[in-house]
Order: sequence, then structure tokens, then C-alpha cells
Amino acid sequence: MSEKFSATLRIGDLNDYIAPSQGCVVSLKANSNRLEKSEGFGKVGRAAKPSVQSEPVKISLKDCLACSGCITSAETVMLEKQSLDEFLSNINKGKAVIISVSPQSRASLAVHFDISPLQVFRKLTTFFKSLGVKAIFDTSCARDLTLIESCNEFIARYKLSQSTDGEGSKLHLPMISSACPGWICYAEKTLGSYILPFISSVKSPQQTIGAIIKNYICEKLHIRPEEIYHVTVMPCYDKKLEAARDDFVFNVDGDGEKITEVDSVLTTGEVLELIQSKAIDFKDLEEFPLDKLLTNIDEEGHLYGVPGSSGGYAETVFRYVAKILFGKEVENPLNFKIIRNSDFQEVSLEVDGKTVLKFAQCYGFRNLQNVVRKVKMGKCDYHFLEIMACPSGCLNGGGQIKPRPGQSAKDLIQLLEKSYMENVLVANPLENPIIKGLYDEWLEHPGSEKAKRYIHTEYHPVVKSITSQLQNW
Ligand code: SF4
Repeated sequence: MSEKFSATLRIGDLNDYIAPSQGCVVSLKANSNRLEKSEGFGKVGRAAKPSVQSEPVKISLKDCLACSGCITSAETVMLEKQSLDEFLSNINKGKAVIISVSPQSRASLAVHFDISPLQVFRKLTTFFKSLGVKAIFDTSCARDLTLIESCNEFIARYKLSQSTDGEGSKLHLPMISSACPGWICYAEKTLGSYILPFISSVKSPQQTIGAIIKNYICEKLHIRPEEIYHVTVMPCYDKKLEAARDDFVFNVDGDGEKITEVDSVLTTGEVLELIQSKAIDFKDLEEFPLDKLLTNIDEEGHLYGVPGSSGGYAETVFRYVAKILFGKEVENPLNFKIIRNSDFQEVSLEVDGKTVLKFAQCYGFRNLQNVVRKVKMGKCDYHFLEIMACPSGCLNGGGQIKPRPGQSAKDLIQLLEKSYMENVLVANPLENPIIKGLYDEWLEHPGSEKAKRYIHTEYHPVVKSITSQLQNW
């Protein structure tokens, strides 16, 4: 595949691959609910009472510690490129706007409107196309690619750990999942270099679908990547931080122009805010056909994907490795055992009386701090850790729709868990025809050089620049 992108702009070619928006009859009034820019960090400065008046401290996304202190509050509107205003201002500006919706956001809207995830997806397609969006895709599709790459990476690490003696064998495992930017941010900024080699190099589903769209889809359709404005709908604000990472920016033709895999991230709550600002009855919207190019929808119109509301990493890798390395078909669903609490569960596989696989799901900062302490001391006997920063995982992300008055967070999570796979077929990522096509036409095979280039990333210990500046105040 050529490294150069064609200069020929043919955004109209997208029409061959996506459901047309003609016939989308909903009338939406102009956005009347503009968000005000926050001056939240100014309040920090006043509270600190600096003794010396000097240059104002500039704070960017890179300074965020993912501590949830500001980034998950209403003051997040300071993220200028990641707002509803920015999204709306990019519609009808000549770029093809593409939206990728996470299954967790789909579930949150489904519970809020008391309809199925498929209905939500179809109505969102109607809604966004009415606004001028070109295509709406599903990040579960890209997640299947990340799962296959994760399985491949785990097998390579497992084999290395078995073939390396002594301390060397401890360098490769546990492999730690990398889909949660809250966890990645914490690891890079608080834990530092000892933990980073253990984190899977596979990008998250958000960045993977960004890489697919801005590289493969653009090249396939002869569209320049700068002519696409790609937005994701996600359950948390930390995804905005992830999209802003330098690692997910690339150059076109070496001319210095920066292309971001994901141009903007909207939370589920922001999408609800947008729907409400248009004063429409979402439940009454017609249900538009889905764009199949990057959406897990079968010929009969059923959504499909892996179970596991935080991505299903531990379960998918465990199932795959048990079969490939040990010839074992494991039970379905997997029998996770609660260890400390429902957010810390493990599953293991024994062969000839020996534990050959031991995986854990570890959600929430309290649990993850305990387990990374063991990794640091070399006393962690897990082979794989699915770490997620939020208690209860992604369905409980800070960007999801809040509980209704009188509804407890626990009750809402139960409804979300139930809705997440409602009428969604459980399917093996390895059998996903879209992903097979991506390997055939683009990436060649799991773990290939191209897969490493486009679907994998690196992590870096980060100096807490804002902290050091605050110390001088
Ligand atoms: S666990 Fe929370 S912070 Fe991490 S990706 Fe999921 S919603 Fe975002």
C-alpha cells in the first residue's frame, strides 16, 4: 500500500459504502444550547493565593492527571476541541463528518429512552444524518480488531516468559490491557517506567477505529484524511485526553500537516444534551439503516460483538489462548471468581494440576493500586490483567447519562448491564467478516509490521509539569 495519499478528493465515494441520508425527514432546529467556556482553572489560581504575580500558568490536556477532580466535572468544557460547539461548527464545512459510537454509550441511551441498543443506533443514525453527518459507525467493530491483536501479543509474551529464565521471565507478564485512558494516564504520570513494559501496545478501540478511518478508509476511497472530521461518542471524559495524545497524530505526505485519528470526542451525556437542545422526541424518530462499512451488523440486521461491558479483553484472550496453547475449549460464559469485591474477579485454567493461565478483571483505583503494587514487587502471579479505572467499568464512566432522581447508581448499572447485550449476538472477533477484510486488504496478519504501525502504540513516563509549576506558586 502506498505511503502517499491520493490528492484526488472524492468524498462522494463514501456514498457507495454508507446508507444514504436522503429521506431523513426529521427537522431539527438550530443549536440553541451553546456551552459557555469555563474558567474553572482560574479558580484554582485564586484559591492558591500566589504570593508573586507572574505569567499565568498555561494548562493543556497533557497536564491532566486523570484524577477526576476537574475533568469529570462541568468544567470540562475547557477542552475546546472536544466540545459540542466544536462538533457542530465542523458540520457542513466541507469535511465529511464521521461518528463512531461506543456500545457503552449506546446502552446508556437505550436505558435512558427505554428502547433497545439497536433502536438507539438506528435513531442516532437518523438524528446525526439530519445534522449533516456523513456516516455513523460502531466501535465494537474496531474493538474486535484490538482483541485479535491483543490475543496475538499475549501469545508472544507468554512464549517469551516461558523461554526466559529467572528474572527475565518476569519482564513479559502480566500483560495489562490498554483500552482505558484513565488507567494509562495514571500509569504514565504516577507509576512511571516500571509498569509501562507490561501494558499491551494495542491501541484502544477508539484510536483503532480512528486509525482505520484516517488511513485505510481514506486510501481505499481516495479521500485525503484532512477532509474527514472524525468524532467518537464515548462513556468517559478520559477518552478526550486519549484523542489528544501526540501518539495519535500523524503527518500526511511528510508536509508537516498534522492529522488526528480522532478529531473530537463527545460523551454520552453530551449527545443527550445535543438531542435535548434540538427539542425532538428521540423515541419518535424513524429508524434509519445502519452504515455497514465499520459496524458489527449482520445480514439479518442483528448487532453482534463480544460480551463484557468493558471490552471483554480478559475473557476473549483467555478463551483464545486456552484453545491455541492448551487445546482447551473453556465454558461459556467464563466462570470468573470474585476475589475482594465484584470489581476484582479472576479466572484460571489448570492443566495436569498446574495453573497455566490466571487472568483477572480489576476495576476502580482501589483495586488497581493493590494489584500494581504486587507487579512492582514482582509478586503478581496473574498472566493477564484487564484494568479499568472506573468502578464497575466502562458502563459506569463519568460521561454516561446520570441516574434519574431517586434512582441509585447501583440500580442504573444493573439496567445498563442488562441492556448492553440486549438483542446483541455474541460473536467471535476472529470470525468478524469486516476484520477479516481489513487483514486481507490492509494489515496482512495479526502482529504484522503494518498492524504494529497502525494499531499499536507506545507509552511514556510523564513528568508532572503542572505539579512542578504549582509548587512555585
Ligand atoms: S473504565 Fe472509565 S475511564 Fe476507563 S475507558 Fe472505561 S469509562 Fe473511560
